Amino acid sequence: MEKETEKIINDLEERLKFYSQLGVEFIASPSSSAQDVYLSLVKRIVICQKCELSRHRKNPVPGEGSLQAELMFVGEAPGRDEDLQGRPFVGRAGQLLTKIIKAMNYRRQDVYITNVVKCRPPNNRNPHQAEIEKCQEYLLTQIELIKPRVIVSLGKVATDFFLQSSLSMTALRGKFYDYGQIRLMPTFHPSYLIRNEGNRQIKRMVWEDMKKVMAYLGKK
Ligand code: URA
Repeated sequence: MEKETEKIINDLEERLKFYSQLGVEFIASPSSSAQDVYLSLVKRIVICQKCELSRHRKNPVPGEGSLQAELMFVGEAPGRDEDLQGRPFVGRAGQLLTKIIKAMNYRRQDVYITNVVKCRPPNNRNPHQAEIEKCQEYLLTQIELIKPRVIVSLGKVATDFFLQSSLSMTALRGKFYDYGQIRLMPTFHPSYLIRNEGNRQIKRMVWEDMKKVMAYLGKK
């Protein structure tokens, strides 16, 4: 094998190991078929070149957490910190999301965290509809595999993925919607909370939304 090809394959294998651990290390009693599906999904994301976002990324960001999570958080797209680390919600917005998860009495590794698109859009622009469509099979497979009882969609891009509504987040948030067997709770994106740091009303609304999720899941 050519040296260059060998190096590419080794790098890919290392990356795959890293990303797949993010998804599977916390599973209490994994079923081997769920792990296999997850691993092949991660592999497809790591080598994906279906849209132009793959050309700009440093790292793809498949998602992380428990494959047995009853609660899934879905954001819009990786930002700069996420792109550098290959992990979702690790920047400022991520730190706030982690605080919210802890306030709900979960650990980050108890839930599953991912995004609508798995690669960072240049300059953090919104992902284009064509990019969302090319990427959607990955999120749909994650949902199918994990089967969470509740999905919290963070912000308008994630909420539109599920509801395709022309209504604003203010109108959509705070109510459960049916997404097949799963209950969907739209709420404001943590970046929006950060941009409106002094606004206690927005903070309170997000907490009210999360309390509804906790009550539905019987979480105290
Ligand atoms: N914003 C998102 O929507 N997702 C991330 O992973 C980080 C910031």
